[in-house]
Amino acid sequence: MPELPEVETVRRGLQPVMEGQRIARVETRRDGLRFPFQKDFVARLEGKVVSGLGRRAKYLMADMESGDVLLMHLGMSGSFRVTLPEGERTPGDFHYPRSENRTHDHVVFHMASGVMISFNDPRRFGYMKIVPRADMEGEPLLRGLGPEPLGNEFDAAMLAHSCAGKKTSLKAALLDQRVVAGLGNIYVCEALFRSHLSPKRQASTLASRSGAPTDHAKRLVGSIHTVLNAAIRAGGSSLRDHRQTDGELGYFQHSFLVYDREGEPCKTPKCKSTVKRFTQNGRSTFWCSTCQK
Ligand SMILES: [Zn+2]
Repeated sequence: MPELPEVETVRRGLQPVMEGQRIARVETRRDGLRFPFQKDFVARLEGKVVSGLGRRAKYLMADMESGDVLLMHLGMSGSFRVTLPEGERTPGDFHYPRSENRTHDHVVFHMASGVMISFNDPRRFGYMKIVPRADMEGEPLLRGLGPEPLGNEFDAAMLAHSCAGKKTSLKAALLDQRVVAGLGNIYVCEALFRSHLSPKRQASTLASRSGAPTDHAKRLVGSIHTVLNAAIRAGGSSLRDHRQTDGELGYFQHSFLVYDREGEPCKTPKCKSTVKRFTQNGRSTFWCSTCQK
């Protein structure tokens, strides 16, 4: 499943071909994806100019000059392919395999510039929805989302405040979209490893009795920033090298410290343990029980 860095990489890849560009024609090749397309989906996009392409959590948000916003979510297996006169490219460097099967191209945006942007999604958990910008505050898909992990408001004090008194595990708290938006299983495992904190630790330990952030909270926020920024930077470099990255292992496979490394040696210097895996809240947690306390 694409996580925040992948979505951000996709956004940066689509930005040059979408921003300031008019959508000439939209093809929806089925009635819907995870949800049916709105009846006026095509009509509200055709002939309209995209004024900006933003992101909130794992949603891409295409701001239209018409006053609408097109929300796009990649779901479990969604990806975009950009067809330029000189060839094709797929923005994003994903851990999950991307489908090359064109029968899964469900939505195609034909830009007035001649560029074609196709959305491919074999499992069809992705979705697209048009929301008037004026109604974004009350949009159910976005309501209740916590702060952006790379935004200014997300810091140790805020994380401690959200976790104070929480009896759930630290892992579960970080996956809770109300606590922090857009973090998924991979980067939660990676951030906990890098901050030497156990995924089983009680979330409330990020706050002192008075509610102030503990050193754990400060370390954890630092690790979250580091791991997300590194992944976004690597995604950016994969965009530049897109022709070479076809069929090769992407950044993510090479640089995980714990994720998907069960039974392999822990990467903490001098630690002799191996990475372990267990199921937590229905998801695989990868960790080192020696260095993460
Ligand atoms: Zn270790």
